[in-house]
Amino acid sequence: MRPVNATGETIDLYEVLGVQKTASKAEIKKAYHKAALAHHPDKQPEHMRDEAEIKFKTVSQAYEVLSDDSRRAHYDQFGLEGVNNPGMGGPDIDLEDFINMFGGGMGMPGMHGMHGMHGMPGMGGAGGRKPRGRDVIHQYEVTLEELYKGKTVKFGSSRNVLCPSCKGSGGKEGAKPKECSNCQGTGHTTSLRQIGRGLVTRDEVPCPVCHGNGSIFKEKEKCRKCKGACVREEKKVLEIYIPRGAKNNEKIVMEGEADEVPGYTTGDIIFVINEKEHESFARAGADLTHTIKVTLQEAICGFSRVVVKHLDGRGIHIEHKKGTMLQQGQILKVAGEGMPHKRGETRGDLYLVVEIIWPDEEWLADDNNIAKIKAALPDGPVPAFEAVEHVDEVNFMVADLEDVPDGQHGGGWEDEDSDDDDEEGANVQCQQQ
Ligand SMILES: [Zn+2]
Ligand SMILES: [Zn+2]
Repeated sequence: MRPVNATGETIDLYEVLGVQKTASKAEIKKAYHKAALAHHPDKQPEHMRDEAEIKFKTVSQAYEVLSDDSRRAHYDQFGLEGVNNPGMGGPDIDLEDFINMFGGGMGMPGMHGMHGMHGMPGMGGAGGRKPRGRDVIHQYEVTLEELYKGKTVKFGSSRNVLCPSCKGSGGKEGAKPKECSNCQGTGHTTSLRQIGRGLVTRDEVPCPVCHGNGSIFKEKEKCRKCKGACVREEKKVLEIYIPRGAKNNEKIVMEGEADEVPGYTTGDIIFVINEKEHESFARAGADLTHTIKVTLQEAICGFSRVVVKHLDGRGIHIEHKKGTMLQQGQILKVAGEGMPHKRGETRGDLYLVVEIIWPDEEWLADDNNIAKIKAALPDGPVPAFEAVEHVDEVNFMVADLEDVPDGQHGGGWEDEDSDDDDEEGANVQCQQQ
């Protein structure tokens, strides 16, 4: 067996076509026709078709490069890196065109059939340890409410398990299998996997003929339960618990719940938590932020009420005593009301960002209101400019923040829609009366 490394190796294009580096153009063409016919997917037994299709495509791509003098020269000098330079040109060979050329094209498995046990850790390692089977990864979307409280999820799983009757051997008890000729008894074969235009790697996969056993039984000595397939389908209900306080991208691993394959350590089912964006809470680690809306009257005069509905449905009540004033953009810290920590009973903090609700236009249009508020608010202190020699009366309009030169406006107001709230078109005149 050819030694392979865990991540697969980039293969040699000459090797793909089975020619010497010094081969002539005619030799390359001949080798290509031979290889293309040999690997034609329609000429393969069904279980070999996915593999054949990849080989077929690889052969086509090798020919594509080696049949073009300049691309071949580039490949000889720089390897596949150089070949993938789009500036190199060359005709694109489409797999389907080719199959049509050969009069086939029936029942082609799609290229998406390239699942396999690629890139597995521990492959080809020392010490005769079993290679590890493929992990199954599920992305699982969870709301912030669910992460706050924790959640149990049940789901149906369907996977292959070793046949209990023959324990995965595929044969009747006492029957002697013979070495599988497809994999020379190793239980695995290498599979070519395309990872880019003209780039192919070699992966190790369980042998499709002996199902990874390295040996096969004669027809009448096959296990009656699984008919030599070594595995059967098992359906069961799995349950995962998403702990409270779990974070985005956190993984929940169900060890050994992936497909069982003879000769392979069973892989895991891995759930990756995808935290859904929340419409009013933002999360940073164990801390939460939430905007609270407070009227101008409340900001000045104080209040005592619920300001937030928390993720578990509780109302969060705060009292803002009179005597201090809340300001736009101010942040109030509520200790211990953030997300739960995974360990222990403590929680992060909750940060409340103050947003003032200013009186609306209707209220402003009422002279009575203006008179009352003017009477209530203090007159000063108004900055005085007594020493000026000349006074110009000018008009102003409310500027768009985007028009203000950099550094001329303070932070904290970027989100405000200032056009709506400020006294639009007001005149300096009235302040100088
Ligand atoms: Zn069996
Ligand atoms: Zn085999």
